[in-house]
Formats: sequence, structure tokens, C-alpha cells
Amino acid sequence: SADVKKHSFEAEVAQLLHLVTHSLYSNADIFVRELVSNASDACDKLRFEATNDDSLYEDDGELKIRIDIDTEAKTISFIDNGIGMNEADAIENLGTIAKSGTKAFLDKLSESQKQDGQLIGQFGVGFYSGFIVADTITVESRKAGEPANQGVRWVSDGTGSFTVETITKDTRGTRITLHLKEEYSEGEDNYLDRGKIKRLVNKYSDHISLPIQMRKEVWQEDVKEEGADENDSSDAPAGGQMVLTDEWETINKASALWTRSASEIEDDEYVDFYKNITYDMDDPLTWTHNRVEGRVQYTQLLYIPKKAPMDLYTREQQHGLKLYVKRVFIMDDAEQLLPMYLRFVKGVIDSADLPLNVSRELLQESRDVKSIRDGNARRILTLLASLANSEDSDKQEKFAQFYSEFGDVIKEGLGEDMGNQARIAKLLRYATSTNDKVETSFEDYKARMKDGQKAIYYLTADNLAAAKNSPQLELFKKKGIEVILMTSRVDEWAMNFLTQFDDTPLQNIAKGAVDLGDLQDEEEKAKAEKAQEAMKPVVEKLKTALDTRAKDVRVSNRLVDSPAILVTAEGELSPQMIQMLKQMGQ
Ligand code: ADP
Ligand code: MG
Repeated sequence: SADVKKHSFEAEVAQLLHLVTHSLYSNADIFVRELVSNASDACDKLRFEATNDDSLYEDDGELKIRIDIDTEAKTISFIDNGIGMNEADAIENLGTIAKSGTKAFLDKLSESQKQDGQLIGQFGVGFYSGFIVADTITVESRKAGEPANQGVRWVSDGTGSFTVETITKDTRGTRITLHLKEEYSEGEDNYLDRGKIKRLVNKYSDHISLPIQMRKEVWQEDVKEEGADENDSSDAPAGGQMVLTDEWETINKASALWTRSASEIEDDEYVDFYKNITYDMDDPLTWTHNRVEGRVQYTQLLYIPKKAPMDLYTREQQHGLKLYVKRVFIMDDAEQLLPMYLRFVKGVIDSADLPLNVSRELLQESRDVKSIRDGNARRILTLLASLANSEDSDKQEKFAQFYSEFGDVIKEGLGEDMGNQARIAKLLRYATSTNDKVETSFEDYKARMKDGQKAIYYLTADNLAAAKNSPQLELFKKKGIEVILMTSRVDEWAMNFLTQFDDTPLQNIAKGAVDLGDLQDEEEKAKAEKAQEAMKPVVEKLKTALDTRAKDVRVSNRLVDSPAILVTAEGELSPQMIQMLKQMGQ
């Protein structure tokens, strides 16, 4: 018809669709989760809009999601009475990739990673996951508050294009109908199987706080045909079949997981919920779930993942906290609820004390939000400390795993979160001149300090080999003094903020003059002074020769085998630091 308009998918969408259908077939199940979650989002959006405009409910305030299977037509439909879409919305939302990071993410994936459903699954393919199982998807929708004759029908086979046309749709919201491919409408992977869909909803979407409904089935005895032979069926079992009715039953618990009491929630439920909100295929490393009753009341459910995401160090990195106010979803990625150095934490915050119309700008200024952020930070640091200090080898193992993934990120907290600096410092682990393994804490080091040693000595370098061979270490080795070896990019910067641990000063042995205090014996001191005198003419000559290229030339008592050494003046940027700033583009 002339009213059906054809549109091409944006190039990125076409690329994404190709990826989805070619690499996610082993994860076909996820389309149920994605479409249910979109329906739930649409209801959340309506509820949110309606806080300012009641009329949007149109006398239908009972938000719900329905899943309807038609075995004859080989279709499965996801129906919601949420916010809905008009034609422009459908073209925009289903024809382009709105999320700015998605394209960049796609570009970053290598060919082999693209084959690996794990990574793609991780960022969530959303609506397009329907095309894993469907050869045609029809979306019929009508936006809340708009006239019934302004509905839209969007149809696509998931290759290059889609069509849209105007329809009349009396009910508000969206109906998404998947026409299943042959291989997904029979056998093992038959998504026309009610039981299978029910199980998937329970597995992935149980936490959805709206009712998810399916048609009720009833057993119907075979109706005996008129005039059939009485004897014929006498000893055969009574025949019959399940038939669908026009009644709907709710198949999920419909209570948000975090609102339930922690003692009633199984580990499995926590794990499933985590996978649901993160797209992580792995179980979380650990979690903490609390009702906080302070100045601000809120529920926190915080997870630490097992693995760092690929984009942990990029500026667009998404934060993983979802914000709810009185169980109404407000926003994803609420970066105000966690300090930057804990950006790897995932989960949900639900507070009764924030206004429903809270914006990102408002979040930035709110004292309540600051109090929630502090509470979250403290809770995570306590959780990590409990792993680190546990006698339980399982927990120690978890801490080691955490540290190898996220240790460098929490070091940023030394500069970012002065209030928790001491707690953070306790979590840090390093290699040392006597132990290559990254496992020595400042506490461990202190316990091994020599009599008379007044400072914790450390050295920063690009890698462990460079650190171990540094001329700066010579004197310390000779004297048998352990030195902490810091080899990650962030160390030098982070250590600018940490000057002492538990009242013991921290000293970078590559900076300025190192005072060994009581560890330096009298004889050596005398020898050093004599050398100082003898070398005076040489030093003067070097100073003239180096001119402004060196700030100072000094006779050093810290070298044993090397003839000379370059040191950074105290309070100046070291070579590592300059390199790091350059890499960060400063
Ligand atoms: P995401 O949910 O992460 O935004 P999706 O690919 O799942 O990405 O969905 C794309 C967009 O399509 C959504 O953001 C939303 O605007 C729109 N959409 C999808 N399903 C629905 C629905 N049931 N009701 C209203 N809008 C929807
Ligand atoms: Mg979605």
C-alpha cells in the first residue's frame, strides 16, 4: 500500500543485526529477557511521566506485561501497556543505535571477539535480540496520551530495512510479535512451548516488579462424539488436552528482589538478578544487601563483578548503579551514587527520600545523595576488608581475584576519597624487593621493618624487572632493607596523596635525599663525608658541564655498584608520572 513507508537501517544497526544473528544463537534465550525488560522499562517510563500528568493512564493504571503464544501462527508476542511509541519514536528507537557508546564498542571488538557471544551479550543487544529467533518482527504501538488513530506498525525481517505505517490501536502501549524461524518453533529450541517461556521468565525476569502474565490453560476432556460406539472407548484412558482460555495468570513473583528481606533470598536469586542487570555471564564475586536507616533511608544492593569490563579506564565507562525512588525506576548509570574509584560496582539503590523527579543535575547537588554515596563507599570498603582479613581461604582467594582485576582502580581512591584514605591504604598489595608476588600490604611490610627503620620505603617503576634492577635499590639491598616495588601506572600519582601509613611515613627512595636515619652507621657517615670533600672539584665540573639540564649534582651515598644515578627532586614529576600524563593526553 502507498501508506507503507520503507526505511533503511542505519549502517551500525545493520552491522549489529548481522552480529546478533550470527554469533548469539547459542544464547537465543536472551530475547525473552530483553523484550520483557523493554516492556518493563516502558511501564517505568509511563509511571514516571504520569507523576506529572495523571491523564496518561487513560483509566488503565494497572501496568502489566503479557506474553502470548500462538502455536498455529508460530508467533510469540510481548504486550505491554507502558509509554508506547509513535511513528517517529519507532523509526528513531528501532532504526538507529541511540546509545553513543555502542558503535565505539563494536569497533573495538576484534573479529574473534565478535564471534564470542560472551562479549556481545555483555553489553546487551536489546530489542534486536528478537532477530536471533524470529524471521519477522512486527511492532504495533500507540503512545500514551496520543489519539488511537496515531498508532504505528513497524515490520522488519532484520536485514537491511524496515517498514512503518499508521494504524489505529485502541489500547495504549506496545505489542511486539515475533514470527519464529522454523528451528525455533519445534524440537529442543521450541519457543512456542509455554513451559519453556515460563521457566525463562522465572529465571531472568522474576525481579521485574510488574505482573508478567500468560494465558491460563485448562484441561479439557475429549467431548464424546454423538453416536460413537459405547464399547469402543470403555477401557481406553479418558482423552483430553490442555486448552488456552481468555483468562490471564501472573507467572512471576512481581516483587523487586531488593525490597525483600535478605534472609529470605537465596544465593541463586542474587546471582540471577545480578546477571539480569549487568549482562555479565559470570557470577558476581560477592555482594552486599542492606537497608540503611540513617539521615536518608535507602536500600542498597551492591555487587562486585569477577572481571573488570573492557572500558574500565575509558572516560565513557558506564557506572553500574540503578537508582529507584520508592521502587520507581529513575535512572541507570547514576554516577553520583558512587565515587569514581568504585565505578566497577553494580547494583541498585532504592530510596524513599529522594524526589521522583530527581534529575542528574539535582543529584549532583543533593546532600542526601552525598550521604548515600558515602554510605555505599563505606559499605564496599568494609566488604573488601572483610575478604582481605578473613581466615577463610575461600575469601582470601576472592580478595586476590578482586585485587588483580580492580586493585589499580581503588588506588585512585587515595587521591579521590581522603576520608577513606586509611581504609583504602589497608587494602593495597604490592610486590617488594624480597617478594615478587603482589601480596604485601603496608601492614605486612611494617611488621617486617628493621629495628630503627623509621619509614616505609618504596620505589616506582614501569615494571617489576625495571624496579628490581634499579640502582636506587642497591644500598637497600646491601643493608637488607625491604623496599616496596610499585609498578602500575597509577602508583606514582596515587602515592602523592599518601604520605604515611598508620603514623609511619612513606618515602619514595627515588626522590630527593634518602634519610636512612638510625640504619646508617657512624663509620659509613664519616666515609660519606670524606667522599663529599674529595669529590667537590668533580661535582663543580659536572655542574658547569650540565648547566641547566640538571638542577643539582650531589655526591650520593645510596649507590653501591652503579657510578651515577638520576633522581627527581622532591615535589617534582618523575619520568613515570610525565609519561602517564602524556598517555592521558594532558
Ligand atoms: P535499550 O532498552 O537499552 O534502550 P533496546 O534495544 O532494548 O535498548 O531498545 C531500544 C529502544 O526501543 C528503547 O530504548 C525504547 O525507546 C524502544 N522500545 C523498545 N521496546 C519498547 C516497548 N515495549 N515500549 C516502548 N518503547 C520500546
Ligand atoms: Mg532494552
